[in-house]
Amino acid sequence: MSHFKVIILGSGPAGLTAAIYASRANLEPLLLHGPLGGGQLTTTTDVENFPGFPEGVMGPDLMNQMTHQAERFGTTVRAETVTKAELTDQKPYRLTTDQNTYTCDTLIIATGAAPKYIGIPGERELLGYGVSTCATCDGAFFRDEIIAVVGGGDSACEEANFLTRFGKKVYLIHRRDSLRASKIMQDRTLKNPKIEMIWNSTVSEVVGDRDNGVTKLKLQNTQDGTQSELECAALFVAIGHTPNSELFKAQLKLNEQGYIIIDERNSTATNIEGVYACGDVQDFIFRQAITAAGTGCMAAIEAERYLEGLEA
Ligand code: NAP
Repeated sequence: MSHFKVIILGSGPAGLTAAIYASRANLEPLLLHGPLGGGQLTTTTDVENFPGFPEGVMGPDLMNQMTHQAERFGTTVRAETVTKAELTDQKPYRLTTDQNTYTCDTLIIATGAAPKYIGIPGERELLGYGVSTCATCDGAFFRDEIIAVVGGGDSACEEANFLTRFGKKVYLIHRRDSLRASKIMQDRTLKNPKIEMIWNSTVSEVVGDRDNGVTKLKLQNTQDGTQSELECAALFVAIGHTPNSELFKAQLKLNEQGYIIIDERNSTATNIEGVYACGDVQDFIFRQAITAAGTGCMAAIEAERYLEGLEA
């Protein structure tokens, strides 16, 4: 069993920024991440709103650079899935992974959020066979095909626009008659000649099989209940996210949606001392890479101050 002063869970902008700050404070943190690593930005393409990159930066490149920066200052990065977190009054805190057991004085949780699914027949069965939650990962498989995207937020618009690079036509299916996305993203989407909106509609079934992939969608009009079918080769689901907080639900205070509750303003402190949460696992308002990075910085500084208090 190895002991660390600081363990960070998650390798998105929040976790890696926490790692950069904690390692530059000589705390030699351990950062654990799941099988993929890099967080949600690895499933995005051009990031145009991260300061310092006037021409934009590819999400995976940004995450690689942050990882190198964290490692350069002494962060140990390991791909191990945490299966159990024991955050009791008895210290140090204990984490069990699929490979090891660790203890730590402070824990920074930056586990992010995972994509939501609609929950309709065919969706899970055809995941990876025409159904996807990641246009960057899977868009190129559908060159010159008809592609559908469901959702009305920034993610759905971003995915739809990106997918026009591949598909001959992209349908964006939204359950209401106006988009939730930011104005700039709405404009870009509505002006894109390859995107056609299907308003006031939900997808009720994905039709296809694993040999032929997705062949069509069954749609339902939310206004009059009428049903229709849409022929397409792929469905990209972009309807939001669920925070990855399941591991902590018995110990940390979570809100109704499962986001970790931060006790005070201008803090990342959870209800357990020495345990901090940053990034999308606690943020249901901003959910941006830069805000995640900002809260990661806050968490590391708070962890550092907490450790100083223990030593004093
Ligand atoms: P979101 O803003 O929560 O939007 C989810 C969309 O999916 C909504 O339009 C919602 O419809 C729809 N939806 C939810 N459940 C559904 C269901 N069961 N069936 C059909 N439709 C459903 O999520 P998001 O687009 O993933 O964005 C999350 C946050 O990240 C936002 O703050 C966004 O601004 C940010 N973001 C930013 C960027 C960027 O700046 N480049 C890119 C992506 C995301 P209703 O509108 O009817 O609720």
